[in-house]
Amino acid sequence: MNTRKHLVYSPQYQSDLTVLGSNIEFAPDRGERVLRELAREISPGVEVKYRKPQMLTFKQMRRTHSEAYLDSLKLPVTWAEVFGVKTVLPGNGHTAKILRKLLNDYRLKSGGTLLAARMALANGLAANLGAGYHHAHRDRGDGYCVLNDIALTVHNLRFEKLADKVMVVDLDFHQGNGVSSIFADDARVFTLDFHALEAWPMQKQKCSLAVAIRKHEAPLYNEKLKAALALALKSFQPDLVIFVHGADAYEHGLHSRGEGFALTLEQMKERDRLVIDCFADRHIPLALCFAGGYGSRAWEAHYQGVRHLLERARDYTV
Ligand SMILES: [Zn+2]
Repeated sequence: MNTRKHLVYSPQYQSDLTVLGSNIEFAPDRGERVLRELAREISPGVEVKYRKPQMLTFKQMRRTHSEAYLDSLKLPVTWAEVFGVKTVLPGNGHTAKILRKLLNDYRLKSGGTLLAARMALANGLAANLGAGYHHAHRDRGDGYCVLNDIALTVHNLRFEKLADKVMVVDLDFHQGNGVSSIFADDARVFTLDFHALEAWPMQKQKCSLAVAIRKHEAPLYNEKLKAALALALKSFQPDLVIFVHGADAYEHGLHSRGEGFALTLEQMKERDRLVIDCFADRHIPLALCFAGGYGSRAWEAHYQGVRHLLERARDYTV
């Protein structure tokens, strides 16, 4: 199959976030690992083809984020706050270079979600092998998310008149507080958000349909998801779905263990099937982005999702 119609990636996605002094076990090679596994499984010895995105321009970024916030990204203290580090990098030329490079990485990966959405509208299903920065707000970053690629995609697609009504299905372990707050008063965006009740962010934002899962409720996850998808579709008919994948719902995809539910790979597989099949069966375009996933095994969960998306893309026409 021509995977170039369905996959977005760039080798530049592997940015080093540890330069800011965070000791979080980020997994910047997740996209690369997924591609390698795809090559092994579906086309041994042949490189899996994908499209490379372009960095979002400042004009595109201003469609979601405030001018003042974008300006503040020149300051090391803004980055220290988003990454929750106490030591702020010194304000000098070297730091400015580091921050510019990091911002460009976010701009590129956010451009990736926009490209995947355009590809989904054209080809049914597409995945950006990165991004999913659902914690960034309009005027501030949060939880390692500097730009909100999901909101940026919605706003830019609207500007391009490519899609108007969008449903965001966010299955990351943590609530997509940035997406929810940005679209709180926007009737053309439906936010369906599954998250752990006991986990950060402690103050949850209002979603169109929020499903907070408690620690002991993990076995009911997929049952609840099935019901929630049916309920969401009863009240909202989207032009496009953005699936915020979230490998940190997986038992080997979270850095701080024991803070909530942990789905097995089998449960993750079923979860992804429920979402992708639900919309593919109805011929509603769907674009996937990665979101949370930490440590050396997070890619396994993303792989399941991308693999199933490609399988469905085979027999799907818009
Ligand atoms: Zn998360």
